[in-house]
Amino acid sequence: MVNFKELGLVNTRDMFAKAIKGGYAIPAFNFNNMEQLQAIIKASAETKSPVILQVSKGARNYANQTLLRYMAQGAVEYAKELGWEKPQIVLHLDHGDSFELCKSCVDFGFSSVMIDASHLPYEENIALTKKVVDYAHQYDVTVEAELGVLAGVEDEVSSAVSHYTKPEEVVDFATRTGCDSLAISIGTSHGAYKFTPEQCTRDPKTGKLVPPPLAFDVLDAIMEQLPGFPIVLHGSSSVPQEYVDMINATGGKLPDAVGIPEEQLRKASESAVCKINIDSDSRLAFTAAVRKVFTEKPGEFDPRKYCGPARDLMEELYKHKIVNVLGSNGKAE
Ligand SMILES: [Zn+2]
Repeated sequence: MVNFKELGLVNTRDMFAKAIKGGYAIPAFNFNNMEQLQAIIKASAETKSPVILQVSKGARNYANQTLLRYMAQGAVEYAKELGWEKPQIVLHLDHGDSFELCKSCVDFGFSSVMIDASHLPYEENIALTKKVVDYAHQYDVTVEAELGVLAGVEDEVSSAVSHYTKPEEVVDFATRTGCDSLAISIGTSHGAYKFTPEQCTRDPKTGKLVPPPLAFDVLDAIMEQLPGFPIVLHGSSSVPQEYVDMINATGGKLPDAVGIPEEQLRKASESAVCKINIDSDSRLAFTAAVRKVFTEKPGEFDPRKYCGPARDLMEELYKHKIVNVLGSNGKAE
């Protein structure tokens, strides 16, 4: 058993309270490997932004949980080396699907866990979430829960259709579970294909898909029910067209990939939405950079020569999100 405080990590409690007051959101970036972690930490340290390092169940299986824990600890030390005196870094389990998985992460040094029982009937969601909260809170680990269902595919989480969160349920749910934050469904979606062409309109000039707007009326109704309560948005990549174009121009095949426009995420950041999850954009940046090197230099076989540019492009992406979309820069001096 190791407590997150021994690793130099923090939980989300103060971070979220400040973000809601300040009208910005904390970036939650998923990571699976060293290059992603380096890019996240460099971007956060240079912009002095609090940051949530997210690990999905799939990432945990891919990278090994022991290694991940030491990587997070290493990330804190690396941040200090980069001149960030008091790094505010959270290690968070994304989409925990059982009590056992959440417990294991709490015991392994995570400072925050998500229990996603949103696919279960309402009362079962409450019971499982409460069980995780009761355990995690003994160790001061914060818990994110979910109400409503997001469409899309993310590792082992997938659903064909979305069901918006019902505002009339949120007070009962938050009170009875004791969760610290709530992931809601208002039209964001997992993956790089967030909407089908039928759900979108097409820009007559560019021929590109224009996605439907997020349901800000549902968000407003939830905030009215739970004033000041931390709200989380999953599936909030924007699927930058430049990366999609880079991938398609170098032999890739991502037709009609579409994400959430950044203006909408900026607007959400200014509300009680205090955590925004971004994963697909970093996957796209990595893939675009690697493809570019392979296309331009077919003889290259040193992984540093293609993972390095991928890391640089991801760092640029993370900084852009922090400064231009979430507004969390300078909030962790
Ligand atoms: Zn998610």
